Amino acid sequence: MPVLRVALDLPLHRLFDYVAADASTADVGYRVRVPFGRGERVGVIVEVAVASEWPPEQLKAAGEILRDLPALPADFFGLCEFASTYYQAPLGEVVMQALPAGLKRVAPVLRRQGRAVRPPPPAAAPELTAAQAAVLATIAVQDGFATHLLHGVTGSGKTEVYLRLVERTLAAGRQALLLVPEINLTPQLESRVRARFPEAGVVSLHSELAEAARERNWLAAFAGEASIVLGTRLAIFAPLPRLGLIIVDEEHDTSFKQQDGMRYSARDVAVFRARQHGIPVVLGSATPALESWANAQGGRYRLACLRERANPAAVLPAVNLLDTRKTVLREGVSEPLLAAIRERLARGEQSLVFLNRRGYAPVLACPACGWVSRCQRCAANLVLHLAERRLRCHHCGFENRVPQACPTCGNQDIHPFGRGTQRVEVWLQEQFPEARILRVDRDSVKSRKQWEAMLERIHGGEADILVGTQMLAKGHDFPKLTLVGVLGADAALFAADWRAPERLFAQLMQVAGRAGRAELKGEVLIQTEYPDHPLYAALAAHDYPGFAAALLKEREQAGFPPYAFQAMLRAEAPEMADAIAFLTTACALPVVQEHPNVVLYDPVPMKLSRLASLERGQLLAESPSRPALQAFLPRWREAIEGIKAPSKLRWHLEVDPLEF
Ligand code: ADP
Ligand code: ZN
Ligand code: ZN
Repeated sequence: MPVLRVALDLPLHRLFDYVAADASTADVGYRVRVPFGRGERVGVIVEVAVASEWPPEQLKAAGEILRDLPALPADFFGLCEFASTYYQAPLGEVVMQALPAGLKRVAPVLRRQGRAVRPPPPAAAPELTAAQAAVLATIAVQDGFATHLLHGVTGSGKTEVYLRLVERTLAAGRQALLLVPEINLTPQLESRVRARFPEAGVVSLHSELAEAARERNWLAAFAGEASIVLGTRLAIFAPLPRLGLIIVDEEHDTSFKQQDGMRYSARDVAVFRARQHGIPVVLGSATPALESWANAQGGRYRLACLRERANPAAVLPAVNLLDTRKTVLREGVSEPLLAAIRERLARGEQSLVFLNRRGYAPVLACPACGWVSRCQRCAANLVLHLAERRLRCHHCGFENRVPQACPTCGNQDIHPFGRGTQRVEVWLQEQFPEARILRVDRDSVKSRKQWEAMLERIHGGEADILVGTQMLAKGHDFPKLTLVGVLGADAALFAADWRAPERLFAQLMQVAGRAGRAELKGEVLIQTEYPDHPLYAALAAHDYPGFAAALLKEREQAGFPPYAFQAMLRAEAPEMADAIAFLTTACALPVVQEHPNVVLYDPVPMKLSRLASLERGQLLAESPSRPALQAFLPRWREAIEGIKAPSKLRWHLEVDPLEF
């Protein structure tokens, strides 16, 4: 009797076998009701086999095969298989994470509502700049697979290039998939796309959509009714029957990397998917990931550049360094920066003070006995949120009231140390009592609605000074913004994480890019103790290529990615000794000896060594050869699965890890 191999949404994600009398291979891709435990579940038929590895008497009969939706197509399974192999994740997990929740339940599938309103006429497209036209001439949407890296400075009009490519794709009768790091941060992009293509059926796909809306949008994409899908990383797995183009905007952004479950990079999956479909993929950024840049330099990706801003009146801002060794700082702010803000206030222009740390102060401490506010569950400090009078852990969410006195010695004189956005906001308000100050971070903006309201206030000129984190750095035009002051950037220059400089450069480039977007010229003032650091020099020269070349050389000498390929095995347990012992065993498995091209480093505690009461250790596997690493990983994983570990120990493998 035919056997259905079914993916189910269960923790272990193995495929489950059921018998089905009249099933055939044509049933692959349909959902199916199956008995499980004492209840019933809905899964996806991944394979129809002639026999099972399990004894026939142990197999239950499958329930109804659900044909209310078309079967998931072969290319969907091809994509899932690629991700499963590449990221060492069970196929069942990849398949199930790709489906909206409603389709995995024993419940009727939502039907799409008909469109009620007549679409407005499309928004007019601006005439292309010469640079945009030149870039577009190099990207053909009908010529098969190619990966294009679009390197364009902030405000160079990358979005307009995307829109034109989408237009051509729609004209060819195909669907376009546009991936963005965080949709909620870029409502302007979504409205621009909708305005330009009012008839195309634009749907968004991201995790913050209500469940029903996500299901409806997914179904519209799957049915081919929606011609444009705008989504975050999870959208890369949406089945699209007419897919003709993939665009990954801000391709360097780390939020394309999924950090739990199957740890995949949506950007890298996008490149695979484009090849699979024989279509172009465009990766766009002002500061491409070094991996992408190296691929472009090596000829694997085609490089297209926009070197100037699209609006000729909007020149790139002047970047100046303020040597903080030579000035007095008050609350972390130097006199020249204060003067620059004062000037903007007098002229009725906006300033932005960038500090990538939210809260009032990163820690509360007692000078008498040395007590500091530590999280009870993590190897981290509790951050002081003065406005709410709370101490909060930014890692696990634990929170506490602010104590009146030192919990250890009773000293009433306990102090906040260091500063976050709240503290800078309070202090600036004291300096400029008449100024309207808006703080923009994840504490002041928690939802998309709040964010839209905040953007509206900024655009409406309701703020003189913005104090904010990198939330403010993403693609927004603030026409009256002429000054960006940067505080506390130095910390990343010498961070233990060797990717920190790359990220800092990207962040500062993005935030600097907010200044001078319109007719008013912008200025960026960076406070630093290292004004001669090459990173700042490259930033001042707006020289991403120079910076990337220098960094790549360092990486090559050190044998770091992209010149080496890595995977990380992580283990967490109530006791660090257990985690490390597990990793040590994994290190000594016989299979390791059989792959001399792969080097395993010593197991070590993670940087955040305890999170939510679990101790965490990691073990890095590295190889100069991608195929060598890929050959090693499945065998290693299989052997690791055989290790007898304490019952509370959890482990996972991450391929191409970004965080250490
Ligand atoms: P990027 O995505 O590269 O940061 P945008 O696409 O947001 O840049 O464009 C920056 C600004 O330039 C926007 O205000 C946009 O409307 C404008 N712009 C883009 N292309 C053109 C063009 N061809 N003609 C006039 N203005 C343009
Ligand atoms: Zn004390
Ligand atoms: Zn914590």
